[in-house]
Amino acid sequence: MARQFFVGGNFKLNGSKASIKEIVDRLNAASLSKNTEVVICPPAVYLDYATSLVTAPTVSVGAQNSYTKASGAFTGENSVDMIKDVNAKWVILGHSERRTYFHEDDKIVADKTKFALDSGLGVILCIGETLEEKKAGITLDVVKRQLDAVIAEVKDWTNVVIAYEPVWAIGTGLAATPEDAQEIHASIREYLVAKLGGDVAAATRILYGGSANGANAVTFKDKADVDGFLVGGASLKPEFVDIINSRD
Ligand code: PGA
Repeated sequence: MARQFFVGGNFKLNGSKASIKEIVDRLNAASLSKNTEVVICPPAVYLDYATSLVTAPTVSVGAQNSYTKASGAFTGENSVDMIKDVNAKWVILGHSERRTYFHEDDKIVADKTKFALDSGLGVILCIGETLEEKKAGITLDVVKRQLDAVIAEVKDWTNVVIAYEPVWAIGTGLAATPEDAQEIHASIREYLVAKLGGDVAAATRILYGGSANGANAVTFKDKADVDGFLVGGASLKPEFVDIINSRD
């Protein structure tokens, strides 16, 4: 089964109404590959605004985080129902910045993933090793541990997209080579075969993230297990369109 190419834009803590309008207008006006599913993820404050602006048929909107409760006394949180209420369809969970700065461990990420999926959102599930872990040669142990937590709770992986994002590549300008990414992605897929079966493994998209940009995206083109990108910095720039169109 062919996996649809997927490009996510993680705006992180960046933007204003003016800049988000500029980005969405650019996507609406661009000639975007019909074969690429695009999800832009602005800060939560701008989700409603972003969904109101999107007209490009292949572009949808996602949140950067969600909580494990539908509502209640949880000051500062955003619920999946609220995210859906403003017509966003996806949520990024397990991003290394959430894991590092906001102390989200594997169990929290798994709980959030299950809750979001049960509520009908798609989840972009981020995994990846730090530089220390890479140097220690434990990359696969780390990503398997991160996956195990989610596998323990989530039985239906239809609406999960995995983003392999080595932490040392995020925001550094130092992307993994296409060969290295392919090797890890293939290992992740093998692990999915073992844990979830061949059909789920074949259908699940595995994105690469970490300093992906308009110039390097195309160099991943022939990598069979790289099914798209999760893009930070470059998703705010015109080159995002080149990444979206890099597989055509
Ligand atoms: P980057 O971020 O593209 O700026 O490296 C990617 C991410 O954190 O998702």
